[in-house]
Amino acid sequence: MNNIIFGPVNSRRFGKSLGIDLSPNRKQCNFDCLYCELEPAKVIDRYSDIISIDKIIKSLKEVLKIEKDIDVLTITANGEPTLYPYLSELMDRIDNIKGDIKTLILSNGSTINSLRIQEALKKFDIVKLSLDCITESCLKKLDRAEKNISIEDIKRGMLEFKNSFKNPLIIEILFVKGINTKDSEIEGLNRFLEELNPTRVDIGTIDRPPAYRVEPLTYEELRDISLKFNHSLPIYIASRKKITVEPSNYTKEEIINTIKKRPLTEDDIELLFNKKSIDRFRNLLKEGEIKIKNSSGYNFFVINR
Ligand code: SF4
Repeated sequence: MNNIIFGPVNSRRFGKSLGIDLSPNRKQCNFDCLYCELEPAKVIDRYSDIISIDKIIKSLKEVLKIEKDIDVLTITANGEPTLYPYLSELMDRIDNIKGDIKTLILSNGSTINSLRIQEALKKFDIVKLSLDCITESCLKKLDRAEKNISIEDIKRGMLEFKNSFKNPLIIEILFVKGINTKDSEIEGLNRFLEELNPTRVDIGTIDRPPAYRVEPLTYEELRDISLKFNHSLPIYIASRKKITVEPSNYTKEEIINTIKKRPLTEDDIELLFNKKSIDRFRNLLKEGEIKIKNSSGYNFFVINR
């Protein structure tokens, strides 16, 4: 394996995923998030350390010769992958060799207002963009964005992109205690997401040692936050900090009421419900009171109306 291609990693959502790092030598990012897993670094607005498309394709071909059953290629970076200047051309070249393999990009969303970036992102099967904040002050404080980046541009760009992108668009929000957890921030995010109508919203918190001194939320706190969003939004609690919760007993009515407030995922059910409640839940599913709705790789359980 070389330093550009990493993995494969098996995930329940996407199957076997191979990562492509567009900035393998050092962090190059236009954010300096308080929660970043990489070392703090000065923000940049363009890559200065650029690997050639040929080198990336050569590395990918070598690995694909060995790894035969890859389901998805995840384009990422030590930093922000959309700052890679040849993203669009790279995707064309990847398209020529990938066969049936799907492509996914993980971006911080900062460049989405650029039409050039939107055109490049349209070449992906799945696009995942971060949106931690809805106010300028939060963006500066939590994501410590480069000075020319504004939340209004990000919002405008996301709406514009969603209008023309027909594949799944996933939004990821990372919550940090006391920073983007204020009700006003969550209400603003909720209003915007209602308008954006993404395929799915992943909410999470700090899982690994962060660059700065900031605190994660517990699973219960994330769950309380998830209930503040409109229940029509498919919210997935994507956090490894789940073990703190004890599964509880839910009656049939309690199961229905919980699902009415927020569609639940298989992970939520394993975490929240004890064995008897899981049996009750399965019966509700069999009786047709609850149905499964798939949202870009995740099954959500919703009320069958
Ligand atoms: S956008 Fe990602 S890489 Fe950049 S600072 Fe934030 S967490 Fe780190």
